[in-house]
Order: sequence, then structure tokens, then C-alpha cells
Amino acid sequence: MEVIIATHNLGKLREIREMLKGLKHIDFTSFNDYPGSEAPEETGQTFEENALLKALHATETLGKWAVSDDSGLVVPALKGAPGVYSARYAGKEATDLDNRKKLLEAMQGLEGISRNAYFECSIAVTGPEGFKKVFKGICEGYICTEERGNNGFGYDSLFIKNDYSQTFAELAENVKNRISHRRKAMDKALLFFEQMHQL
Ligand code: IMP
Repeated sequence: MEVIIATHNLGKLREIREMLKGLKHIDFTSFNDYPGSEAPEETGQTFEENALLKALHATETLGKWAVSDDSGLVVPALKGAPGVYSARYAGKEATDLDNRKKLLEAMQGLEGISRNAYFECSIAVTGPEGFKKVFKGICEGYICTEERGNNGFGYDSLFIKNDYSQTFAELAENVKNRISHRRKAMDKALLFFEQMHQL
């Protein structure tokens, strides 16, 4: 059975593949196997809506089961920004570095609990005949005042999980993958995938 990992974000694709690699009864493919596939516009107001939008688009255009991830960073002191706009916080063509710079600027002068933040992840699974399901995970921590570390992607070099002292970008990838928002959502999705051969 084939399931397409519906993301154009290479950082996410690597992490998701790593988390799914134990499932030998499913052949996980990606957009690399379907050149020319375009991502839909992310018009949803929530991570859940956008995750569903991406997976449904892949299922509808390619006629396959799909799994997608929509995730981002939420800073309550910034009224929830960057939130669903995490990937394009500093503009449509913004790089991860542009987004991190904008975040540090927006948080200048904020101290203590005002620097609290969390990553949120929604993983959507869609299939033929309108099947859809969403799994969620959250990882709480805070935003440090300067970039640290070279691993990971996105806001990793600015985020420190509660009870840790290193940023996600300083932690080894396998450590981040054990404790992240994506891990928590994926653990729930894995239970579903493990039973999938019964569908
Ligand atoms: P999406 O493709 O719209 O879901 O964009 C998610 C964006 O949120 C990414 O481009 C990153 O900026 C950010 N993000 C999501 N998950 C992570 C993570 O695990 N680490 C760092 N940044 C993340």
C-alpha cells in the first residue's frame, strides 16, 4: 500500500520519513516521486485546516492515500503570531533566517514568561472515498534572545523546550524527534498506520 508524504518542506520530509521508517507494510512516497505536483495555497485559519487542505489536495490530484503536516510556532505575547503564517512570517518569499530575524525583533524587550512559546503540529491522513483524520501535538517552551545551533530548520535555533537548556537546533536530530510536537502528533498517527492494512 502506498501513502504520499504531502510536503514540499525538506526539513519536515526528513523528520517524517525518519518517524515512519518502522512501518514496513506501507510504501511512503513523496512529491519527489511525482514531479510537477504543486502545493495548494494554505488558506486555512488553523493548523488542522491547512493540514487537511494539503493532504486532500494530494489525494484528489494523485488518487492516493496521503499524509501531511501543518505546523508552526505560536507566541502568546505576540497574539499567537507567527502561528499559521510561520513559514511566511517575514513575507511570501521569506527564508527561515528572515523569519527568525523578524521574530527576534518582534520580541525585543520581552522577558520572562512573555517569551513563552509553543510549537503546534497537525498531521492529516486522507484517502479515497473521502477518508480524513487529523492528529495533533504540542511542544511548549520559550524563545531565546539569540540564535543557537545548526541542526533542524525553521525556528529551531530560537526554541528551547521546557526543562531543556539547548535549542532544538543544538539537540541531535534523533533527540528532537523524540520530544517534538511532530513526534507527539505522529505517535497518534502511527497507531492508525499500524492498523492500516486492515482497511
Ligand atoms: P507549513 O509548511 O505551513 O506547515 O510551515 C511550517 C513552518 O513552521 C515552517 O516553515 C517553520 O518555519 C515552522 N516550523 C514547523 N515545525 C517546525 C519545527 O519542528 N522546527 C522549527 N520550525 C518549525
